[in-house]
Amino acid sequence: MADIWIMRIGHRPQRDKRVTTHVALSSRALGARGIYVDTPDPVLEENIRSVVHRFGGDYSIKTGVRWQDATKGFKGKVVHLTMYGQRVDEALPKIPKDENIMVIVGAEKVPPEVYQRADFNVSIGNQPHSEIAALAIFLYLYTGGKHLYEQREGGEMTVIPNERGKTVVRDD
Ligand code: SAM
Repeated sequence: MADIWIMRIGHRPQRDKRVTTHVALSSRALGARGIYVDTPDPVLEENIRSVVHRFGGDYSIKTGVRWQDATKGFKGKVVHLTMYGQRVDEALPKIPKDENIMVIVGAEKVPPEVYQRADFNVSIGNQPHSEIAALAIFLYLYTGGKHLYEQREGGEMTVIPNERGKTVVRDD
């Protein structure tokens, strides 16, 4: 499987700080390689880098990147998640696993040009819900959940699954 990138559009630093943080963290947990966010937000960048520093793995964040620029030279397929898109169960077999993908999620209204630029406009059900939920469900279905318990190199700590209580190993 090739790399998965996320493009978050319509980010408003004050109003969306928790939602965009969770878009990034959820995509990281599910195996994405990194996120682009359209509005500059150094605090968001710092928070995500701090998680990567502590828990390891290879995940990057860059803010202040227009979706037009992120998608322009992108080598791979662009997948836009929208309640108006084609059914995810029908889209998935058509989305290649051996090419990079960039998954676009919105905040408020998404410009019509995004629908035109996308190689696939994909819905996770046809009810309005959340970019965090839509992204997590899409990534889980696309990857089969195989990244959820993978070992992440280079962090300060590793969490060991535990039926009751918390087991955290400090990494040297
Ligand atoms: N009314 C907005 C629009 O026209 O796109 C929807 C905004 S919604 C709060 C924020 C984002 O969540 C959307 O841009 C989309 O990426 C995602 N989203 C929400 N519901 C979805 C669904 N049923 N399927 C796929 N993505 C969804």
